[in-house]
Amino acid sequence: MRKKLRNRIRVIKLIVFAIVLIYVLMNLSIFILNMHYKNFDYRYIPEPDSDTRALIIASHHDDEILIAGGYMIKTMQNNGEVYVMFNIYGGAGLENLSDKVTVNKSSWREEETVKALGLIGIKEDNILFLTNKDQTGLLDIDNMERNIEDIVSLIKEINPSIIFLAAYEGGHCDHDMTNFAVASAIKKYNITIPVYESPEYTRYRSFYEEMLFRLEKFSIIKIRPYPRFLYNTEEEIVTINMSKEDLELKKKMLDQYESQSIDLLRITHNAPEIFRPLHEYNYSQPPYEHKDTLIYKICKIRGKSNCEFFNVCRIPFENIKTVIEGVNSQ
Ligand SMILES: [Zn+2]
Repeated sequence: MRKKLRNRIRVIKLIVFAIVLIYVLMNLSIFILNMHYKNFDYRYIPEPDSDTRALIIASHHDDEILIAGGYMIKTMQNNGEVYVMFNIYGGAGLENLSDKVTVNKSSWREEETVKALGLIGIKEDNILFLTNKDQTGLLDIDNMERNIEDIVSLIKEINPSIIFLAAYEGGHCDHDMTNFAVASAIKKYNITIPVYESPEYTRYRSFYEEMLFRLEKFSIIKIRPYPRFLYNTEEEIVTINMSKEDLELKKKMLDQYESQSIDLLRITHNAPEIFRPLHEYNYSQPPYEHKDTLIYKICKIRGKSNCEFFNVCRIPFENIKTVIEGVNSQ
């Protein structure tokens, strides 16, 4: 009897020890990660002024703030103009909310956008919503060619002084396709406006970091958000100086996107905003094959069914190869 009791106590002690050990290791890992997120001494992007006409080309509603929320805030503060184009018709990601949503899903997101951008005084007339379908819309050769022409017309009409978009780094296939479409438009029509890209989702794309992000809620030490590009191009990176008030405003803008994962948006809001001139990508390679990015790894670990999203992006990528080769040969 006593022996049994002693064994039980020993097992309980072992379990408690294991839990404590895991907890300490988790906190230690986050601490080491934060140390690793050292502050680079980035140069600043020239401060926008009253002549600035910034065009943000986002894929989805909310990407515009994650890409260049700070730059938009500064431009509006300095009496410049901000234009935002959404390349994708945003219905995906809202399927599970269908019973809560009484209005059209996409128009709901559009309302959120108008509210978010209205907070800094961007007029509704300066916001344009295109109707390309989520995830597969731009993986069709005709749609992609039309999209490139749409982007060219938009650039000609707005005549921006600077353009921002998300990088081609496998953060999301819609972002990658939009990056490709903009780069193609620029190359095809020899557009010389400065174009900057943002890592956006790339910042938490390593397997190790994503695990820690998922565990963070149980940890005392919190992860310091730190954006970076997948490719080592630190010397080209610029940032924008944002005050505490600007960061608060950016958070408030993100808060308008109630239909989206607020937690995901929240962790990014006070990270430094970084950009680099549009990178010369090899678009004949899908972006997520350059590096074995997180989602791809998780999807491999979990099995085929979870790969669906990536296969959607992956296989039809072949479909637009002709456009890619056409652009690359110019
Ligand atoms: Zn997006």
